[in-house]
Amino acid sequence: MMPRVTHIDRLALLLALLSLVMTTSSVASTSSLPGTLPILAASLAQLAWHEHRPRLARLMLMPILLILGLCLASHLIPEYWLAHASLDRLADYLSPGSLLVDWRPPLLITLCLGTLCLSLLVRTRASLGAPLLLGMTGMLLVVQLIGWNTRPTLLPLAGAPLEQAVLWLLLVAQLARVSVGWRVTRPSIQRALWPSLALTLLTILFWHQQMTLSERELRTQTQQQGQRMAEQLSREIDEHLAAMRRFTHIWRLTDTPPNAAQWQRQAAPYQQDFRYFLNIAYIDADSRILHAHPLNAVNRGIIGSRLYDDQPAGRPAVRAALEEGREGRTDIITLLQGVPGIIHYLPIFHADTEQPAAAVAMVVSLPVLADTLFTRTSPDELALTLRAGQELIAHQPATSRLGPWQYETSLALESETLALITQPTLAQLLGQLPRLPVVSLAIGLVLATLLYLALFAHHQMITQHHSVTRSNRELRTEVRERTRLQQEIEWLAGHDELTSLPNRRTFMKALERHADQRPLSLLLCDIDHFKRLNDQLGHLEGDRHLTDIAKCGRKVVERAGGLFARFGGEEFVACLPCHDHQQASRVAESLRQAVEGLGLTHADGTPLTISAGVATQVTGPLQTDALLRAADEALYAAKSAGRNQVVLAGMSI
Ligand code: GH3
Ligand code: MG
Ligand code: MG
Repeated sequence: MMPRVTHIDRLALLLALLSLVMTTSSVASTSSLPGTLPILAASLAQLAWHEHRPRLARLMLMPILLILGLCLASHLIPEYWLAHASLDRLADYLSPGSLLVDWRPPLLITLCLGTLCLSLLVRTRASLGAPLLLGMTGMLLVVQLIGWNTRPTLLPLAGAPLEQAVLWLLLVAQLARVSVGWRVTRPSIQRALWPSLALTLLTILFWHQQMTLSERELRTQTQQQGQRMAEQLSREIDEHLAAMRRFTHIWRLTDTPPNAAQWQRQAAPYQQDFRYFLNIAYIDADSRILHAHPLNAVNRGIIGSRLYDDQPAGRPAVRAALEEGREGRTDIITLLQGVPGIIHYLPIFHADTEQPAAAVAMVVSLPVLADTLFTRTSPDELALTLRAGQELIAHQPATSRLGPWQYETSLALESETLALITQPTLAQLLGQLPRLPVVSLAIGLVLATLLYLALFAHHQMITQHHSVTRSNRELRTEVRERTRLQQEIEWLAGHDELTSLPNRRTFMKALERHADQRPLSLLLCDIDHFKRLNDQLGHLEGDRHLTDIAKCGRKVVERAGGLFARFGGEEFVACLPCHDHQQASRVAESLRQAVEGLGLTHADGTPLTISAGVATQVTGPLQTDALLRAADEALYAAKSAGRNQVVLAGMSI
């Protein structure tokens, strides 16, 4: 184990521990803890791996990968398969007040940890994709480093700086340990790594683009939801104004003021339809309240009071209706019921004179008005606030944590401007967030890994194929060379190297092949005074003469259908199958003459000649020794008789 790597590794572990301590002590909530625990576990697993305890490392890696897989699955599973809210409920059950996001490490940290752990699990083998996995980790860490996460996003994507630092160290520690082992397969790694990393980069860019677009779309959707609610509210306002006018028109043709029963009967349905009309009152020409509906304690208490006296603030509004014959309304005031609201005064005209004769007062409670709208939305989805300037009119809090986005829509209520603030809950937003970007990211990373494996295996196969072809070629050359040598050895074993004639061994074998043929003649010849030639002209010259005579002898004997061989020294032997004594002696004579005619001479110019002895076997089984002996004796006789002649053995065998 390399000590430098161990230090880095221990440092990584130390930092993971540090981050754990910091995250647990910093916030009361569990926000970063679940993200930090897998990092700590991964650091421990890597330490075990560095310490050459792969089994222990694997044992630790499996649960980490399982947890990371579950975290990733929670990003991927479609909402209609498993609602985000259910997972939030589970988180809340585990730790009240917490959401799924509190239990899950940020997406990029999940992926980084996953790739780091996987590379350890495949024992950082290049053939199983470890170089790409580590490359992916690096890229995902760079993405976090350049701070794409600084844009406001719904989900935390990047880890805390400390977590990132720990992962960098784990990555460097792994690389330092394993890159040496990749040297052997470096060409295959290079061939596979660059295209796969390019695909990874494209996948990340595509994911980022998709994520930005889908968040933008979600943002627009929630904004539109706010606007829709504002529109509903202003529709409600329009409707109640129209209802007020309709109500007022009922009394137009009436000469005499309505009695209390009539008033109650007419006002009741309006009050039922529009709960926020806290009071529908009849005001006579002298601004005195004659009737009020509903007849509750508050409203009963104001019957008979004169508005000009009792409500100086509202006097212009009352005057507008009673004296000028137009609709008048107060600003937003605190009503008798203790809530903010507006009082509308609508003139009742005299049927004949068309002059304002009385007025209807409609007291509108703004909180109740807002409430009619608010009750239509679930507090699980949105927090709603209605404001008039700085004054809070109504507020419906959300049941769970709010998301980061808040929208304000203004709506006009006659002269007043109200602001409706909608703020969706985080659970609602995450439930609506499209899963497609993360799905495409996961699929892209898997595809990049497959591409790496395919390219790596392909290149390895090509390399192996080349080396097999090369060794095959070498083997073939070797075999050819050996065959050639073998043939040469075999030839040398059966031939004479100097004259290329068959040697005595081959000759004897050939003789056996002709064992059945009769008559069979043998011819033995010896160069005359060859010793002298050697002495006088040298051995090299002697060799040349020997070769010339061999060629000549072969020609003559083979022409006769026999086999000519070197018998030893400067002696030659010929086998002449189917040659009787006479035929053989003619061949021998032709040979003698041919040699003499070659023009080979001794140092003194006398021609080089041969002497020959011939023996023939006519019948009986082949007697090689007797035949050779007879031919030899005949040769001896030829030498004795003065050389350069052919002597036939005295009798045939
Ligand atoms: P003879 O007529 O009685 O045969 O006389 P000779 O000198 O030929 O006597 P012998 O046959 O005994 O001598 C053989 C000589 O042939 C001896 C040796 O120097 C020579 N000789 C044998 N083999 C070779 C060879 O391969 N090359 C050469 N240059 N000389 C050879
Ligand atoms: Mg001899
Ligand atoms: Mg001789």
